[in-house]
Amino acid sequence: MRYDPDEIERVAQSVIDRGDLPLLGQDPNRTYRMGIMGGTFDPIHYGHLVTAEQAFDDLSLDVVVFMPAGNPAFKQDRDVVAGEDRYAMTLLATSDNPHFLASRFEVDRTGITYTADTLSLLREIYPTNVELYFITGADAIADIVRWHDAGRIGSLAKLVGATRPGYDLGHAEEAIRESGMDFDVTYLEVPALAISSSYLRERVRLGQSVRYLTPDEVGGYIHKHRLYGAKRGPYGALGKPWFGSKE
Ligand code: NAP
Repeated sequence: MRYDPDEIERVAQSVIDRGDLPLLGQDPNRTYRMGIMGGTFDPIHYGHLVTAEQAFDDLSLDVVVFMPAGNPAFKQDRDVVAGEDRYAMTLLATSDNPHFLASRFEVDRTGITYTADTLSLLREIYPTNVELYFITGADAIADIVRWHDAGRIGSLAKLVGATRPGYDLGHAEEAIRESGMDFDVTYLEVPALAISSSYLRERVRLGQSVRYLTPDEVGGYIHKHRLYGAKRGPYGALGKPWFGSKE
């Protein structure tokens, strides 16, 4: 295995500079596995958190870095809340788990954030004894062959596609097979993925509770910042519980 002490020092410096990426790769005698949880997280919910925890266990990962998409390539046609809000909610949702991290790596970049570029940058930062596992929804994986520079993604990371029970993998497998591109994909069945961000957004818009679908801190953030059309919140502008009448 290639081991260059200068490279480790460069990784350490790069991670320190960025502040929110894990320091991995220090021991040249072992392989590290870094999960990168890619998603818009608009908003993050328990389905995402369970997926990451399941990937951490099943694939023996060392850490899972949640990376809210900066300017998502395929979301140019719909309003997505600001990267700053999606990052804040992701940070709140992951803060109590010692092997989860929330990263600004994409939200701080300008322009459309393509996964191939993100993985290339990470590959430059980390030494070769750090393997990258890009975790996302199986629906997104089914589309991967159409992504910018798709061929490069397969050489940079292994892929993990999360599905809800009963999901038909045929479409994803066929799209990848027909593309002739080389992807190493593991599929994970995650019952909690019956929850979706669009379901949460709709419930908020209708004034319904999102408790038990996402951590309370995320629900609180949504209402305090009036995201997704939230009309009232459990807290007033000064952060005190608010017991006024419905608007
Ligand atoms: P999406 O198409 O909105 O999501 C497809 C499905 O996957 C939805 O059901 C979604 O549920 C679920 N999902 C998304 N991320 C997930 C995760 N980490 N774990 C479990 N389920 C997940 O996907 P997206 O959010 O726009 O993109 C997913 C990732 O792929 C992002 O990192 C994005 O940057 C990347 N991507 C890259 C390109 C490119 O480079 N050209 C193009 C598209 C996507 P929820 O809505 O509940 O999350």
